Amino acid sequence: MDTNLERIRNDIEALSKFNATPGKGLTRFSLTPEDRQVRDYLKKELSHMDVKVYEDSAGSLFARRNGLNDDLPTIMIGSHFDSVKNGGNFDGPAGVVMALEIFRTLDDKEISTKYPIEFVAMIEEEGGRFGAGVFGSRAMAGMVDYEQLKNNKDADGISMAKAFEDFGMNPKKIEEAKRDPSTIKAFIELHIEQGPVLESNQKDIGIVNYIVGINHLDITISGRSDHAGTTPMDMRADAMSIASKVISKIDVYAIAEKNGTVATVGSIDVKPGATNIVPEKVKFTVDIRSKEYKSIGRVKDKILKDLQILIDTNEAMSFNIDTMLDIHPVEMSEEINDYFKEKSEVENYTYEIMTSGAGHDAMIMGSLTDVGLIFVPSKNGRSHCPEEWTDYEDLQKGIEIIYKTILELGEVE
Ligand SMILES: [Zn+2]
Repeated sequence: MDTNLERIRNDIEALSKFNATPGKGLTRFSLTPEDRQVRDYLKKELSHMDVKVYEDSAGSLFARRNGLNDDLPTIMIGSHFDSVKNGGNFDGPAGVVMALEIFRTLDDKEISTKYPIEFVAMIEEEGGRFGAGVFGSRAMAGMVDYEQLKNNKDADGISMAKAFEDFGMNPKKIEEAKRDPSTIKAFIELHIEQGPVLESNQKDIGIVNYIVGINHLDITISGRSDHAGTTPMDMRADAMSIASKVISKIDVYAIAEKNGTVATVGSIDVKPGATNIVPEKVKFTVDIRSKEYKSIGRVKDKILKDLQILIDTNEAMSFNIDTMLDIHPVEMSEEINDYFKEKSEVENYTYEIMTSGAGHDAMIMGSLTDVGLIFVPSKNGRSHCPEEWTDYEDLQKGIEIIYKTILELGEVE
Protein backbone atom coordinates (compact mmCIF):
# COMPACT_ATOMS: atom_id res chain seq x y z
CA MET A 1 0.00 0.00 0.00
CA ASP A 2 1.11 3.55 -0.65
CA THR A 3 -0.67 5.11 2.33
CA ASN A 4 0.59 4.62 5.88
CA LEU A 5 -1.38 2.77 8.55
CA GLU A 6 0.54 4.22 11.51
CA ARG A 7 -0.11 7.79 10.44
CA ILE A 8 -3.80 7.03 9.95
CA ARG A 9 -4.02 5.50 13.43
CA ASN A 10 -2.12 8.43 14.97
CA ASP A 11 -4.41 10.97 13.34
CA ILE A 12 -7.61 9.29 14.51
CA GLU A 13 -6.24 8.87 18.03
CA ALA A 14 -5.00 12.46 18.16
CA LEU A 15 -8.30 13.91 16.92
CA SER A 16 -10.23 11.74 19.40
CA LYS A 17 -8.61 13.65 22.26
CA PHE A 18 -10.24 16.93 21.25
CA ASN A 19 -13.40 16.04 23.06
CA ALA A 20 -15.71 17.86 25.49
CA THR A 21 -16.98 14.64 27.12
CA PRO A 22 -14.03 12.27 27.73
CA GLY A 23 -15.19 8.85 28.92
CA LYS A 24 -18.70 9.44 27.55
CA GLY A 25 -18.04 9.24 23.84
CA LEU A 26 -16.85 12.08 21.68
CA THR A 27 -18.61 15.46 21.72
CA ARG A 28 -17.13 18.10 19.47
CA PHE A 29 -19.49 20.90 18.62
CA SER A 30 -18.65 23.63 16.15
CA LEU A 31 -16.88 26.86 17.16
CA THR A 32 -15.82 25.50 20.57
CA PRO A 33 -12.37 25.00 22.14
CA GLU A 34 -12.38 21.37 20.87
CA ASP A 35 -13.14 22.60 17.35
CA ARG A 36 -10.16 24.99 17.67
CA GLN A 37 -7.90 22.13 18.79
CA VAL A 38 -8.73 20.11 15.68
CA ARG A 39 -7.98 23.07 13.44
CA ASP A 40 -4.65 23.63 15.16
CA TYR A 41 -3.73 19.96 14.79
CA LEU A 42 -4.65 19.84 11.11
CA LYS A 43 -2.92 23.16 10.36
CA LYS A 44 0.25 21.87 12.01
CA GLU A 45 0.19 18.64 10.00
CA LEU A 46 -0.48 20.55 6.78
CA SER A 47 2.28 23.06 7.54
CA HIS A 48 4.87 20.37 6.71
CA MET A 49 3.67 20.37 3.11
CA ASP A 50 3.79 22.76 0.21
CA VAL A 51 0.13 23.74 0.40
CA LYS A 52 -1.88 26.89 0.95
CA VAL A 53 -3.95 26.57 4.13
CA TYR A 54 -7.01 28.78 4.55
CA GLU A 55 -10.46 28.92 6.14
CA ASP A 56 -13.52 29.98 4.20
CA SER A 57 -16.03 32.43 5.67
CA ALA A 58 -18.20 29.52 6.87
CA GLY A 59 -15.34 28.21 8.99
CA SER A 60 -14.38 25.12 7.01
CA LEU A 61 -10.63 24.45 6.82
CA PHE A 62 -8.99 24.02 3.42
CA ALA A 63 -5.55 23.26 2.05
CA ARG A 64 -4.84 23.71 -1.61
CA ARG A 65 -2.14 21.71 -3.36
CA ASN A 66 -1.33 23.36 -6.65
CA GLY A 67 -1.70 21.52 -9.92
CA LEU A 68 0.76 21.62 -12.81
CA ASN A 69 -1.99 23.48 -14.61
CA ASP A 70 -3.28 25.52 -11.71
CA ASP A 71 -6.06 27.22 -13.64
CA LEU A 72 -7.92 23.92 -13.84
CA PRO A 73 -10.73 23.21 -11.37
CA THR A 74 -9.75 21.45 -8.14
CA ILE A 75 -10.47 17.96 -6.95
CA MET A 76 -11.77 18.38 -3.43
CA ILE A 77 -11.41 15.60 -0.85
CA GLY A 78 -12.50 15.44 2.78
CA SER A 79 -15.42 15.31 5.19
CA HIS A 80 -16.50 16.98 8.45
CA PHE A 81 -14.83 17.20 11.86
CA ASP A 82 -17.71 18.06 14.19
CA SER A 83 -19.62 15.32 16.01
CA VAL A 84 -22.98 14.57 17.55
CA LYS A 85 -23.34 14.66 21.35
CA ASN A 86 -21.63 11.64 22.92
CA GLY A 87 -20.79 10.16 19.54
CA GLY A 88 -17.76 8.25 18.29
CA ASN A 89 -14.28 8.89 16.95
CA PHE A 90 -14.89 8.07 13.28
CA ASP A 91 -18.02 9.81 12.01
CA GLY A 92 -16.48 12.68 10.09
CA PRO A 93 -12.79 12.47 11.07
CA ALA A 94 -12.35 9.26 9.03
CA GLY A 95 -12.86 11.34 5.88
CA VAL A 96 -10.70 14.22 7.09
CA VAL A 97 -7.87 11.81 7.88
CA MET A 98 -8.35 10.32 4.40
CA ALA A 99 -7.65 13.71 2.84
CA LEU A 100 -4.69 14.42 5.13
CA GLU A 101 -3.10 11.03 4.48
CA ILE A 102 -3.53 11.38 0.72
CA PHE A 103 -1.82 14.78 0.85
CA ARG A 104 1.06 13.28 2.82
CA THR A 105 1.38 10.34 0.44
CA LEU A 106 1.45 12.60 -2.61
CA ASP A 107 4.14 14.65 -0.88
CA ASP A 108 6.23 11.62 0.15
CA LYS A 109 6.25 10.39 -3.40
CA GLU A 110 6.78 13.87 -4.80
CA ILE A 111 3.82 13.41 -7.11
CA SER A 112 2.57 16.33 -9.12
CA THR A 113 -0.94 16.29 -10.49
CA LYS A 114 -2.19 18.26 -13.44
CA TYR A 115 -5.29 19.33 -11.52
CA PRO A 116 -5.03 21.13 -8.18
CA ILE A 117 -6.23 19.13 -5.18
CA GLU A 118 -8.01 20.60 -2.20
CA PHE A 119 -8.21 19.19 1.31
CA VAL A 120 -11.37 20.14 3.21
CA ALA A 121 -12.46 19.67 6.83
CA MET A 122 -16.02 20.95 7.10
CA ILE A 123 -17.83 22.26 10.15
CA GLU A 124 -21.28 21.60 11.60
CA GLU A 125 -22.28 18.66 9.38
CA GLU A 126 -24.22 17.07 12.21
CA GLY A 127 -25.99 20.24 13.25
CA GLY A 128 -25.15 19.12 16.80
CA ARG A 129 -24.79 22.61 18.20
CA PHE A 130 -26.93 24.87 16.03
CA GLY A 131 -29.37 22.36 14.54
CA ALA A 132 -28.44 23.31 10.99
CA GLY A 133 -26.65 20.32 9.50
CA VAL A 134 -24.42 19.91 6.43
CA PHE A 135 -23.51 23.52 7.09
CA GLY A 136 -20.01 23.69 5.56
CA SER A 137 -21.17 22.19 2.28
CA ARG A 138 -24.39 24.22 2.21
CA ALA A 139 -22.30 27.37 2.59
CA MET A 140 -20.17 26.29 -0.39
CA ALA A 141 -23.34 25.67 -2.38
CA GLY A 142 -24.60 29.17 -1.52
CA MET A 143 -27.53 27.93 0.59
CA VAL A 144 -26.68 29.92 3.74
CA ASP A 145 -27.06 33.61 4.54
CA TYR A 146 -26.51 35.97 7.49
CA GLU A 147 -30.19 35.83 8.52
CA GLN A 148 -29.91 32.08 9.09
CA LEU A 149 -26.81 32.60 11.23
CA LYS A 150 -28.76 34.97 13.44
CA ASN A 151 -31.67 32.54 13.72
CA ASN A 152 -29.74 29.29 14.32
CA LYS A 153 -29.19 29.14 18.08
CA ASP A 154 -27.53 26.61 20.35
CA ALA A 155 -28.98 25.23 23.60
CA ASP A 156 -27.71 28.29 25.50
CA GLY A 157 -29.42 30.68 23.10
CA ILE A 158 -26.15 31.75 21.44
CA SER A 159 -26.73 32.42 17.76
CA MET A 160 -24.39 31.06 15.16
CA ALA A 161 -23.64 34.67 14.16
CA LYS A 162 -22.51 35.47 17.72
CA ALA A 163 -20.50 32.24 17.94
CA PHE A 164 -18.72 33.15 14.70
CA GLU A 165 -17.80 36.56 16.13
CA ASP A 166 -16.57 35.04 19.40
CA PHE A 167 -14.46 32.66 17.32
CA GLY A 168 -12.83 35.59 15.52
CA MET A 169 -14.79 35.39 12.30
CA ASN A 170 -17.13 37.76 10.49
CA PRO A 171 -20.59 36.19 10.05
CA LYS A 172 -21.65 38.97 7.68
CA LYS A 173 -19.23 37.56 5.14
CA ILE A 174 -20.86 34.13 5.16
CA GLU A 175 -21.98 34.32 1.55
CA GLU A 176 -18.36 34.62 0.43
CA ALA A 177 -18.05 30.90 1.19
CA LYS A 178 -20.06 30.20 -1.95
CA ARG A 179 -18.02 28.38 -4.54
CA ASP A 180 -18.30 28.81 -8.27
CA PRO A 181 -19.10 25.28 -9.54
CA SER A 182 -16.68 25.75 -12.41
CA THR A 183 -13.79 25.86 -9.90
CA ILE A 184 -14.46 22.30 -8.66
CA LYS A 185 -13.88 19.24 -10.85
CA ALA A 186 -15.05 16.71 -8.28
CA PHE A 187 -15.70 16.14 -4.58
CA ILE A 188 -14.74 12.83 -3.01
CA GLU A 189 -15.70 11.88 0.54
CA LEU A 190 -14.93 8.88 2.71
CA HIS A 191 -17.32 8.09 5.54
CA ILE A 192 -17.96 5.21 7.90
CA GLU A 193 -20.99 3.19 6.82
CA GLN A 194 -22.89 3.69 10.11
CA GLY A 195 -24.84 0.51 9.36
CA PRO A 196 -24.29 -3.27 9.40
CA VAL A 197 -24.26 -4.15 5.68
CA LEU A 198 -20.53 -4.19 4.84
CA GLU A 199 -19.60 -6.11 7.97
CA SER A 200 -22.34 -8.71 7.62
CA ASN A 201 -21.63 -9.19 3.90
CA GLN A 202 -17.88 -9.26 4.66
CA LYS A 203 -17.04 -6.51 2.19
CA ASP A 204 -14.07 -4.16 2.48
CA ILE A 205 -15.46 -1.19 0.64
CA GLY A 206 -18.87 0.36 0.04
CA ILE A 207 -19.20 2.25 -3.23
CA VAL A 208 -22.19 4.54 -2.94
CA ASN A 209 -24.36 4.90 -6.05
CA TYR A 210 -27.04 7.14 -4.58
CA ILE A 211 -27.59 9.18 -1.47
CA VAL A 212 -31.27 8.82 -0.73
CA GLY A 213 -33.83 11.55 -1.00
CA ILE A 214 -35.65 12.30 2.24
CA ASN A 215 -39.13 13.50 3.10
CA HIS A 216 -40.18 14.37 6.63
CA LEU A 217 -43.91 14.67 7.13
CA ASP A 218 -45.78 15.94 10.18
CA ILE A 219 -49.28 14.51 10.06
CA THR A 220 -51.98 15.73 12.43
CA ILE A 221 -55.37 14.03 12.70
CA SER A 222 -58.05 15.94 14.57
CA GLY A 223 -61.28 14.54 16.02
CA ARG A 224 -63.13 15.04 19.29
CA SER A 225 -62.36 14.03 22.86
CA ASP A 226 -65.19 12.11 24.54
CA HIS A 227 -65.73 9.84 27.52
CA ALA A 228 -64.15 6.47 26.77
CA GLY A 229 -66.91 4.60 28.59
CA THR A 230 -70.11 6.38 27.66
CA THR A 231 -69.54 7.23 23.97
CA PRO A 232 -70.68 4.40 21.65
CA MET A 233 -68.16 3.30 19.03
CA ASP A 234 -70.24 4.59 16.12
CA MET A 235 -70.57 8.06 17.63
CA ARG A 236 -66.88 8.83 18.11
CA ALA A 237 -64.39 10.98 16.26
CA ASP A 238 -61.37 9.01 17.43
CA ALA A 239 -58.13 10.41 16.01
CA MET A 240 -56.12 7.41 17.19
CA SER A 241 -58.39 4.95 15.43
CA ILE A 242 -57.67 6.68 12.11
CA ALA A 243 -53.96 7.17 12.85
CA SER A 244 -53.43 3.51 13.69
CA LYS A 245 -55.05 2.36 10.44
CA VAL A 246 -52.91 4.73 8.38
CA ILE A 247 -49.67 3.95 10.23
CA SER A 248 -50.19 0.19 10.00
CA LYS A 249 -49.88 0.31 6.20
CA ILE A 250 -46.88 2.62 5.83
CA ASP A 251 -44.26 -0.15 6.02
CA VAL A 252 -46.18 -2.15 3.40
CA TYR A 253 -46.10 0.84 1.04
CA ALA A 254 -42.32 1.21 1.44
CA ILE A 255 -41.71 -2.49 0.82
CA ALA A 256 -43.95 -2.42 -2.28
CA GLU A 257 -41.51 -0.05 -3.98
CA LYS A 258 -39.01 -2.95 -4.11
CA ASN A 259 -36.00 -0.63 -4.38
CA GLY A 260 -34.89 -0.30 -0.79
CA THR A 261 -37.32 2.50 0.04
CA VAL A 262 -37.74 2.86 3.80
CA ALA A 263 -40.44 4.60 5.82
CA THR A 264 -40.50 5.17 9.57
CA VAL A 265 -43.02 6.54 12.02
CA GLY A 266 -40.60 7.56 14.75
CA SER A 267 -42.65 9.88 16.91
CA ILE A 268 -46.28 10.05 17.96
CA ASP A 269 -48.15 12.39 20.27
CA VAL A 270 -51.69 11.75 21.52
CA LYS A 271 -53.92 14.44 23.01
CA PRO A 272 -55.30 14.69 25.60
CA GLY A 273 -53.40 11.44 26.27
CA ALA A 274 -55.39 9.73 29.01
CA THR A 275 -56.56 6.14 29.44
CA ASN A 276 -60.23 7.06 29.69
CA ILE A 277 -60.54 9.76 27.03
CA VAL A 278 -61.14 9.20 23.31
CA PRO A 279 -58.12 10.90 21.61
CA GLU A 280 -58.92 14.26 20.07
CA LYS A 281 -55.61 14.78 18.30
CA VAL A 282 -52.86 12.50 17.08
CA LYS A 283 -49.71 13.96 15.60
CA PHE A 284 -47.10 11.64 14.12
CA THR A 285 -44.02 11.94 11.94
CA VAL A 286 -43.17 9.99 8.81
CA ASP A 287 -39.61 9.73 7.51
CA ILE A 288 -39.51 8.38 3.95
CA ARG A 289 -36.20 7.72 2.16
CA SER A 290 -35.45 6.34 -1.27
CA LYS A 291 -32.91 6.54 -4.03
CA GLU A 292 -35.88 7.22 -6.33
CA TYR A 293 -37.80 10.41 -5.74
CA LYS A 294 -40.84 8.85 -7.43
CA SER A 295 -40.97 6.19 -4.73
CA ILE A 296 -41.07 8.84 -2.02
CA GLY A 297 -43.93 10.50 -3.91
CA ARG A 298 -45.87 7.25 -4.27
CA VAL A 299 -45.59 6.34 -0.58
CA LYS A 300 -46.67 9.87 0.30
CA ASP A 301 -49.65 9.71 -2.11
CA LYS A 302 -50.84 6.39 -0.67
CA ILE A 303 -50.71 7.78 2.87
CA LEU A 304 -52.64 10.84 1.72
CA LYS A 305 -55.27 8.72 -0.02
CA ASP A 306 -55.77 6.51 3.04
CA LEU A 307 -56.20 9.59 5.20
CA GLN A 308 -58.76 11.07 2.82
CA ILE A 309 -60.84 7.91 2.62
CA LEU A 310 -60.85 7.39 6.37
CA ILE A 311 -61.50 11.03 7.26
CA ASP A 312 -64.35 11.26 4.72
CA THR A 313 -66.33 8.71 6.73
CA ASN A 314 -66.70 11.12 9.64
CA GLU A 315 -67.44 14.81 9.28
CA ALA A 316 -66.20 15.57 12.81
CA MET A 317 -62.71 14.71 11.67
CA SER A 318 -59.96 16.44 9.69
CA PHE A 319 -56.27 16.07 8.98
CA ASN A 320 -53.27 18.12 7.99
CA ILE A 321 -49.92 17.21 6.41
CA ASP A 322 -46.86 19.46 6.71
CA THR A 323 -43.78 18.61 4.66
CA MET A 324 -40.91 19.52 6.99
CA LEU A 325 -38.07 18.34 4.78
CA ASP A 326 -37.96 17.53 1.07
CA ILE A 327 -34.60 16.48 -0.32
CA HIS A 328 -34.08 14.88 -3.72
CA PRO A 329 -31.83 11.82 -4.12
CA VAL A 330 -28.32 12.51 -5.38
CA GLU A 331 -26.64 10.24 -7.88
CA MET A 332 -22.89 9.72 -7.52
CA SER A 333 -20.60 10.11 -10.53
CA GLU A 334 -20.42 7.01 -12.70
CA GLU A 335 -16.91 7.90 -13.82
CA ILE A 336 -15.62 8.15 -10.26
CA ASN A 337 -17.42 4.95 -9.25
CA ASP A 338 -15.82 3.11 -12.19
CA TYR A 339 -12.41 4.14 -10.80
CA PHE A 340 -13.43 2.97 -7.33
CA LYS A 341 -14.43 -0.44 -8.73
CA GLU A 342 -11.32 -0.79 -10.88
CA LYS A 343 -8.97 0.18 -8.03
CA SER A 344 -10.75 -2.18 -5.61
CA GLU A 345 -10.27 -5.04 -8.06
CA VAL A 346 -6.59 -4.22 -8.56
CA GLU A 347 -6.02 -4.14 -4.79
CA ASN A 348 -8.07 -7.31 -4.29
CA TYR A 349 -10.59 -5.61 -2.02
CA THR A 350 -14.15 -6.83 -2.00
CA TYR A 351 -16.76 -4.15 -2.52
CA GLU A 352 -20.47 -3.60 -2.51
CA ILE A 353 -22.47 -1.05 -4.46
CA MET A 354 -24.82 0.54 -1.98
CA THR A 355 -27.24 3.37 -1.38
CA SER A 356 -26.53 5.75 1.46
CA GLY A 357 -29.57 6.04 3.70
CA ALA A 358 -28.01 8.92 5.60
CA GLY A 359 -27.32 12.40 4.32
CA HIS A 360 -23.70 13.54 4.01
CA ASP A 361 -21.81 16.60 2.80
CA ALA A 362 -21.43 14.72 -0.51
CA MET A 363 -25.21 15.07 -0.94
CA ILE A 364 -24.97 18.87 -0.94
CA MET A 365 -21.74 18.91 -2.96
CA GLY A 366 -23.65 16.98 -5.63
CA SER A 367 -25.40 20.26 -6.47
CA LEU A 368 -22.00 21.78 -7.33
CA THR A 369 -19.94 19.05 -8.93
CA ASP A 370 -19.37 15.34 -9.64
CA VAL A 371 -19.33 13.41 -6.40
CA GLY A 372 -17.88 10.12 -5.15
CA LEU A 373 -18.50 8.56 -1.74
CA ILE A 374 -16.71 5.57 -0.21
CA PHE A 375 -17.99 3.75 2.88
CA VAL A 376 -15.79 1.72 5.21
CA PRO A 377 -17.23 -0.91 7.59
CA SER A 378 -18.69 0.04 10.98
CA LYS A 379 -18.21 -2.57 13.71
CA ASN A 380 -21.63 -4.05 14.56
CA GLY A 381 -23.13 -1.26 12.46
CA ARG A 382 -22.89 1.11 15.42
CA SER A 383 -22.56 4.87 15.01
CA HIS A 384 -23.46 8.12 16.80
CA CYS A 385 -22.48 6.36 20.04
CA PRO A 386 -19.25 5.81 22.00
CA GLU A 387 -19.01 2.23 20.63
CA GLU A 388 -18.58 3.52 17.06
CA TRP A 389 -15.55 1.75 15.61
CA THR A 390 -13.81 1.03 12.30
CA ASP A 391 -10.64 -1.06 12.18
CA TYR A 392 -7.70 1.06 11.05
CA GLU A 393 -6.85 -1.55 8.42
CA ASP A 394 -10.36 -1.18 6.96
CA LEU A 395 -10.10 2.60 7.01
CA GLN A 396 -6.77 2.41 5.21
CA LYS A 397 -8.30 0.32 2.41
CA GLY A 398 -10.86 3.03 1.75
CA ILE A 399 -8.16 5.71 1.78
CA GLU A 400 -6.00 3.67 -0.58
CA ILE A 401 -8.83 3.38 -3.12
CA ILE A 402 -9.42 7.13 -3.07
CA TYR A 403 -5.68 7.81 -3.32
CA LYS A 404 -5.42 5.65 -6.44
CA THR A 405 -8.51 7.33 -7.87
CA ILE A 406 -7.01 10.78 -7.25
CA LEU A 407 -3.93 9.78 -9.26
CA GLU A 408 -6.23 9.07 -12.22
CA LEU A 409 -8.61 12.02 -11.83
CA GLY A 410 -5.81 14.43 -11.03
CA GLU A 411 -3.86 13.18 -14.05
CA VAL A 412 -0.35 12.24 -13.05
CA GLU A 413 1.98 12.35 -16.05
ZN1 LIG B 1 -20.80 12.14 9.34
